[in-house]
Amino acid sequence: MIEWTIIGGGIQGCTLANYLIKSKLTTISNLAIIDPHPEPLYTWKRCTNKINMPFLRSPSIHHLDIDPFSLEKFAKSESGKLDSQFYGPYNRPSLKLFNKHCTSLFHDIQLVNSWIQGRVEQLERRKQLWHIKLADGKQIDSKNVVLAMGLSEHPSCPSWAKELQIQGGNINHIYDDRTPADSNPARDMLIIGGGISAIHTALKWSERLPGRVKLLKRHPFRVHQFDSDPGWLGPKHMNSYTKVTSLSKRRQIITNARYRGSIPRELKMKVLREEKEGRLEIIIDEVSEASYVNGEMKLNLKNTSIITNQVLLATGFHSSPPGISWLNSTIERENLQCAECGYPIVSENSLEWGENLYVIGALAELVIGPVSRNISGARRGAEKIVKL
Ligand SMILES: Cc1cc2nc3c(=O)[nH]c(=O)nc-3n(C[C@H](O)[C@H](O)[C@H](O)COP(=O)(O)OP(=O)(O)OC[C@H]3O[C@@H](n4cnc5c(N)ncnc54)[C@H](O)[C@@H]3O)c2cc1C
Repeated sequence: MIEWTIIGGGIQGCTLANYLIKSKLTTISNLAIIDPHPEPLYTWKRCTNKINMPFLRSPSIHHLDIDPFSLEKFAKSESGKLDSQFYGPYNRPSLKLFNKHCTSLFHDIQLVNSWIQGRVEQLERRKQLWHIKLADGKQIDSKNVVLAMGLSEHPSCPSWAKELQIQGGNINHIYDDRTPADSNPARDMLIIGGGISAIHTALKWSERLPGRVKLLKRHPFRVHQFDSDPGWLGPKHMNSYTKVTSLSKRRQIITNARYRGSIPRELKMKVLREEKEGRLEIIIDEVSEASYVNGEMKLNLKNTSIITNQVLLATGFHSSPPGISWLNSTIERENLQCAECGYPIVSENSLEWGENLYVIGALAELVIGPVSRNISGARRGAEKIVKL
C-alpha cells in the first residue's frame, strides 16, 4: 500500500510531490507518481521545446519549490550560474535555468524512486483505499490520490482543420505528439493562432524559412505581460472570488479573467520586426472555408484566400476537464460532485473531491481561480493539499 499517489507527472504533479516530501507529509518510498512518459515534466519540455521558448512568461518566484527564492538562489549556485539568465523587470527565468532548477529539486528528493511509467484507466474505492488500475494491467492501492492530469494532451483543432487532415492535408497542431518532428517544408508554412505559442512558432519558422512564412490570426495583438491580471495571485482579486458561491459565476469570472491569445510586449516587437524586414507576413483574418486539392490546401478567409502546402495550428487546448472520460465511472460510483461546466466541486481548504481524493491544476480551478493551471496555481494548490 502506498500513502500518496499522484496521477500525472507534469508541473502540477511534480510541484505537489516536492511539497509532500519537503513538508514531511510522506517519504519518497510511500509516494507514487504515475505518468505515461519516461521522466518528470516530459509534456512541459516537449511543448516548450517545440516552440523554442527562450524565457518563461512567469516571474522567477514561480517555480516548483517551497521557498519563493529557491530559483534565484539556485541561479547563483555552482550548478545554476552557467545558465543564470533572466529577462525583463519581472526576472523571468530562461527555460534552461527553470528546467535545470527542476532537475536539481528532483535529484534532491530522489523523485525518480517514486516514478511509475503508465496510464491510469480506472480508479475505485475499496475498503478505505483507492484501487488504481493502469493500462498495462498494473494495480496499486493508495491511501490518498491526487488527480494532476493537465490539458497538454488535448490540443484543440478547428473543425475545418480536422476535415483537411482527413483529406490528407499537411496540417498539424504544434502540441499534438503525433505531429512529425520538424522538417523543412517543401515550399511554405502557414501558422494559425495569436497567442504566445503561435508567435514563438512564427519566430522560429521565419528564421528557418525567411520570406516563406505566414501568420494568420483572428485579432490584433493583445498585449499583456501575464496571462491574467497579477491581482489573481493574491487577495486583491481572490478575496472577492472566494465569496462567490455560484460555480457557474466562478466559471464565467475565470473565462473573463484570462487574457486568451495574449502575448508580452517583447514578443509583439520581435514579430513586428520580422514582418518589417520581410521574413514574415502577418494576416488578420479568419478561415471561412478550406479545401485540399492536388497536395495543396486552399483556405478561404473572410477578406482573401491563402494557398499553402503546410499548416501548423497553435490554437490552444480543449477546455473539457482532463481525464473526465476514464473518471466517469468513479464519479458515478462515489457520487463525486461536478459543476455545470463538468469540473470537480472540491473543498475550498484542501481541494478534496472525495474521501482522500484530491485535485490540483486545471481540475482545481473552480477554487484556485484563473491561475490554477499555471506554476503559481500549482504552488497554491500544493499549499492547500499539504496544508502549509
Ligand atoms: C508553451 C507553454 C508555455 C507555458 N509557459 C508558462 C509560464 O511561463 N508560466 C506558467 O506559469 N505557466 C506556463 N504555461 C502553462 C502551464 O504551467 C503548463 O501548461 C503546465 O505544463 C501545466 O502542467 P500540468 O501538470 O497541469 O499538465 P501537463 O504538462 O499536461 O502534465 C500532466 C501529465 O499527466 C499525464 N496524464 C494524463 N492523463 C493521465 C493518466 N490517465 N494517467 C497517468 N498520467 C496521465 C500527462 O501525460 C502529462 O504528462 C505554459 C504552457 C505552455 C503550453
